[in-house]
Amino acid sequence: MALHLVDSENSESIFDLYAQSAATREIPKYKMCENSNDPELVKDLLLDELLLDGNAKQNLATFCQTDVDKEIHELMDKSIDKNMIDKDEYPQTAEIENRCVHILADLWHSPKSAETIGCSTTGSSEAAMLGGLALKWKWRQKMQKAGKPTDKPNIITGPVQICWHKFARYFDVEIREVPMEHNRLLMTPEEVLKRVDENTIGVVPTFGVTFTLEYEDVKAISEALDLLEKKTGLDIPIHVDAASGGFIAPFIQEKIVWDFRLPRVKSINASGHKYGLSPLGVGWVVWREKQDLPEELIFRVNYLGGDMPTFALNFSRPGGQIIAQYYNLVRHGKDGYRRIQQACLDHGIYIAEEVKKLGIFDLLYDGKSALPGAAWMLKKGVNPGFNLYDLSDKMRARGWQIASYSLPANCQDMVIQRVLIRHGFSRDMADLFLEDLKRSIAFFHKNPVTHGSSQEDAGGFHHG
Ligand SMILES: *Cc1c(COP(=O)(O)O)cnc(C)c1O
Repeated sequence: MALHLVDSENSESIFDLYAQSAATREIPKYKMCENSNDPELVKDLLLDELLLDGNAKQNLATFCQTDVDKEIHELMDKSIDKNMIDKDEYPQTAEIENRCVHILADLWHSPKSAETIGCSTTGSSEAAMLGGLALKWKWRQKMQKAGKPTDKPNIITGPVQICWHKFARYFDVEIREVPMEHNRLLMTPEEVLKRVDENTIGVVPTFGVTFTLEYEDVKAISEALDLLEKKTGLDIPIHVDAASGGFIAPFIQEKIVWDFRLPRVKSINASGHKYGLSPLGVGWVVWREKQDLPEELIFRVNYLGGDMPTFALNFSRPGGQIIAQYYNLVRHGKDGYRRIQQACLDHGIYIAEEVKKLGIFDLLYDGKSALPGAAWMLKKGVNPGFNLYDLSDKMRARGWQIASYSLPANCQDMVIQRVLIRHGFSRDMADLFLEDLKRSIAFFHKNPVTHGSSQEDAGGFHHG
């Protein structure tokens, strides 16, 4: 093998990374640099910088998947050049997307799962926009047919994820959000009926509420709307936001009837990148039957003599996440998903039980009936020397990220702490988490925090 002398132009690359001049200079931050840099060096500097981000495995605040098989890394790498929109060039990626749609339609009990329609999206947010648009278009057709005005559509939700506020504002629909009350944190049929009228394009129950992790009772809401139709003729469709629950309930809570088994449920969205176990960037929306998605919203792409319907807000989009979704569905099967989700649920219940034993918290969600995780508040009247924001901060020092936040209207005075349990978490990690929680509480016992009055209100901390 020939040994090359280091010439003056390229000499840098043989030096240790941190002895190369680019590593000893500031890297350009807000303006582009004039010259090129060694790719490996730039990559390494960036990887160092990214160490400042949180450690995904200890992030109990997110719903999103962060633990993927090494096979997924390989599939993602090999499909980095596949553009989801280009169904002509990548017909097999399109076919794989199509298979996922039908698998989900079947999992959610669509009466004609092989023929129905749906698509991948960048996540549940885009899926919600598409589901909402379909409701709006359907409603408008109905009103026009009846010769009625179409300028004041409304949509009814419980305490929803922000994507529904976006949908309402971006697409000019009034949102009638059933607020939380201290004795009722979810939307109920009675509250829906108070708000419904002929301008209601649909009702959106959340199957796995962001704030409390609980499921809204889709069946009870659907039955109430059945009765309403009998009495008044008003036929109001349901779209279920099953961002997380759509990949949980079919495996471990099969008895809960929330999906297309209810004829009134016309569409469902879910996040592939949450409990669907796929990497970030994939969501799904599926319609009960083909006719539930208005034709005008579908654009047609011809390819290979075929006819590919597309309905999306984006144009170009990566295909890897969708391929990874199909990998997961095939690799794990129903039994695999069942084991993974059940393990997560069990860890959530365990954490809830242990947190309760500490004696200073009231459980808001015990982890048993809905999404894997738990939520709690400080008991009224106890003075542990900290508020929940302090506790989150202290846990962060050990790398744990746990969300503390005040609930939305009308429960803004309630501050809660929530953990989500996701794939990649073990009983051992639960014990490590609980030890750190106890250690943090003991720290505040010795070193109580004093707050000004505004924080005291927000954090539920009471001076003794
Ligand atoms: C996460 C979430 C969303 C938004 O989903 P993305 O996939 O992050 O766009 C919408 N609704 C609910 C209930 C969620 O949990």
